[in-house]
Amino acid sequence: MRSLTSASHAMSSAHPAERGVSGEQAVLDLDRTWHAVTPAEALQATGSCPDGLSEAEAARRLERFGPNRLPQGQRRSVLMRFLLQFHNLLIYVLLGAAVLAAMIGHETDALVIAAVVVVNAIIGFVQEGRAEQALGAIRAMIDPHASVIRDGRRLTIPADEAVPGDIVLLEAGDRVPADLRLVKARSLRVDEAILTGESVPVDKALDPVDLDAALGDRVSMAFSGTFVTAGQGTGVVVATGAATELGRIGTMIGAVEQLTTPLVRQMDEFARQVSAVVLGVAALVFGYAVLVQSHDLDDAFMAVVGLAVAAIPEGLPAVMTITLAVGVQRMARRNAIIRRLPAVETLGSVSVICSDKTGTLTRNEMMVSAVVTADHEIRVDGTGYRPEGNFRAKDGRELDPAADPVLEELSLAALLCNDAQLRRRDGDWIVDGDPMEGALVSLAMKAGHDTAAARAGFTRLDEVPFDSRHRYMATLHARNGHPPVAYVKGAPERIVAMASRVATLEGEEPIDRAAWHSRIDALAADGQRVIALARRTMDAGARALASDDVEHDLTLLGLVGLIDPPRPEAMAAIAECRAAGIKVKMITGDHAATARAIALQLGLADDPKAVTGQDLDAASADDFDRYTREATVFARTSPEHKLRLVEALQRDGSIIAMTGDGVNDAPALKRADVGVAMGGKGTEAAKEASEMVLADDNFASIVAAVREGRTVYDNLTKVIAWTLPTNGGEAFTIILAILFGLTLPITPVQILWINMVTAVALGLTLAFEPTEPDAMRRPARPAGQPLLSGRLLWRILFVSALMVAGTFGIYAWASARGLSVEAARTMAVNTIVVMEIFYLFSVRYVHGPSLTLQGVLGTPAVLMGLATVVVAQLAFTYLPVMQTVFGSSPVSFTDGLAIIAVGIVLLVIVEVEKRLVSR
Ligand code: ADP
Ligand code: MG
Repeated sequence: MRSLTSASHAMSSAHPAERGVSGEQAVLDLDRTWHAVTPAEALQATGSCPDGLSEAEAARRLERFGPNRLPQGQRRSVLMRFLLQFHNLLIYVLLGAAVLAAMIGHETDALVIAAVVVVNAIIGFVQEGRAEQALGAIRAMIDPHASVIRDGRRLTIPADEAVPGDIVLLEAGDRVPADLRLVKARSLRVDEAILTGESVPVDKALDPVDLDAALGDRVSMAFSGTFVTAGQGTGVVVATGAATELGRIGTMIGAVEQLTTPLVRQMDEFARQVSAVVLGVAALVFGYAVLVQSHDLDDAFMAVVGLAVAAIPEGLPAVMTITLAVGVQRMARRNAIIRRLPAVETLGSVSVICSDKTGTLTRNEMMVSAVVTADHEIRVDGTGYRPEGNFRAKDGRELDPAADPVLEELSLAALLCNDAQLRRRDGDWIVDGDPMEGALVSLAMKAGHDTAAARAGFTRLDEVPFDSRHRYMATLHARNGHPPVAYVKGAPERIVAMASRVATLEGEEPIDRAAWHSRIDALAADGQRVIALARRTMDAGARALASDDVEHDLTLLGLVGLIDPPRPEAMAAIAECRAAGIKVKMITGDHAATARAIALQLGLADDPKAVTGQDLDAASADDFDRYTREATVFARTSPEHKLRLVEALQRDGSIIAMTGDGVNDAPALKRADVGVAMGGKGTEAAKEASEMVLADDNFASIVAAVREGRTVYDNLTKVIAWTLPTNGGEAFTIILAILFGLTLPITPVQILWINMVTAVALGLTLAFEPTEPDAMRRPARPAGQPLLSGRLLWRILFVSALMVAGTFGIYAWASARGLSVEAARTMAVNTIVVMEIFYLFSVRYVHGPSLTLQGVLGTPAVLMGLATVVVAQLAFTYLPVMQTVFGSSPVSFTDGLAIIAVGIVLLVIVEVEKRLVSR
């Protein structure tokens, strides 16, 4: 150990932990030698103790050492973000056009083009910033937490509030919140790949290791950012934030994720292709105009600029990004927090949801309703966790628990082999810990045990923690004047197999396994979760407990049946899934009969088929695939089965959302198309592996997210179906005019005006469209279906043609009546905008008729967009400044009516087409 240095010396160091002062100066001096000292020395040097810091001290240290956060990665500067808005082939083409226009003396046009490009960039910049902020805020909702001991009490704090000296508790699935010197470790294994690149988890231990051991060999430490894969441990924080090993290797909080998804990329690619085609066509048209029709170079060039400007959907990428961001926000409002943006799209095409049972499909508010001992079948009444209720025999007669030593010991075992606590809050009883264990505490209290006294009288010497693979938990207790006793609780088949005797009122007798199995089945068939409790008396000197000690020669005390009612909202969500062609499969560690009964109550299937993990293990590859296809309930599975199930379902071409919470679920969550972690009871490892986190652990939230996913996809389609015909209509108008040697019915700057005003004011409203009523009554969209389907392409061409006809029609009609070119063009521009407005109302309903009251009244966003466009068009038509810039001229009232009539005709034709095609 180095000697203490004075604070002033340490100031020069970059390591924050070395900026020492007073009492815990030492934290500082032991810098990076923690692995070589003993746990006691580490506690002393950090000024801590097994009871942890006091809240006041922790607050003081937080002040001093700063939050336990890695430095922020290099974020793109504001200027850079703004400039990046111009980094786009479409914009380069426009800017090139502006420069050339200026060179041939069309300064106004050049300025307008430049202005439009800048306005476009500003809108993109602002919207992107808002979207990033919103996503950041949503992600902050699932920031990691840490379990610490302060003032002798266990509490959960945000991980960034951990300070040196804090005592941190670790269990499987946790992400280590800071660098810890371990002071307790039980089968603790940690995955340190993030630090060392070594993917095999490291076994941790307490003994000091060599001072110059490599990072991967410092087994007495748990490093920030690594994951606990098994076991339990306790450590004292020795470094936080940038001072941790993770901070030292220069890790930073990742820069903001790119706002992109496969579909957006597909569209970007499409826009790029359009630009290339447009440039080619523009060159051809230019040649044709100059060589064949002997136009002025000047005029021909401006016409071609108009063509380029018309055909390029410059506003499209921004609107698509915003549509995605709106979707993510809506999902967050429904408790589904997106961690990876592409999941927004994938969710829309999910065809199978594999869900946990306990807590996701059920409420996870358990209550013991039955106890079965060798002598009695006992019913227990009560409500919730409230520790009041009676024990009754089958015939309704009240029983006195004190008069039944087996019931008495069974409830004592339920209380001792238990990590939960019941607590009163506002007259309600709530659980700290596992709800099932909470229900067992309540049972013990109903049986007359004083929890504090019992737990103090039977000190826990050791334990074998619960693990979903071996499905039991055991604890070892010291007793006054008797040898220590081990109590075991777990899945009943397991415990019955491990037991050789049964406790009865007369003493003990050998176990009749078949009889017990039928008792288990009877409880389970009722939908109850069954737990068995057993005892083993140990040798007088026993101080530690291993799984070998409890896997044989147990004495069975009895069974406990717990009810866990299905969530009503899950029932509704399952019905919705069935209508939407989405299969729901229940994957649970629970008993097959219990799971099947719950599946029936939930309406998962009319006759749900259940398969057990054992069946799966015994199945041939073909049978395995058949089981996964046909079964609805997978019971007594372990996390490994989940991975195999996902893989088998994916082989069938299904898109899978899979839930999970434990560290062992991580591979399946990663493999699933949409991994869904539980926000409440889920481990950090599960969240890290998932695309989405449920804030309320509720199955209904998955379905809500799927619905929003379908909405996002619909809305992206709508944005495209609406934007592209405008560009197509404008471009074909120009091409036709040039081919037939006509005056352009719309000028380049007018086209830009239309694209800018309408794309933003109208196109953007589509991002906010609510879910269509039939969104969950259609089958799931096949994965990888291109955004530009044949149907959509046809729609784009069809509407483009209508737009061309409307524009030329109005222009020709105005010219024939002797109106000026300016007046005729103004009418043409207004006609295009009016057609867009009417078409918008049609596009809002992809799958149904638009002319419903709801469709016409629209959403507030649509009405606001509409109002904006109307005001903008009035300004365009009647304001002198605008007339100078855009070459517009006033339009009479009757002409205005004629323009609106064109829009109505377009809407009617499009609706008729929609109905014909949908037949
Ligand atoms: P689920 O899918 O219902 O959450 P788990 O894997 O958590 O299943 O549990 C599987 C089985 O293990 C349960 O049915 C129960 O019999 C047993 N079990 C669950 N939790 C505990 C516990 N804390 N102690 C003992 N046994 C448990
Ligand atoms: Mg569970």
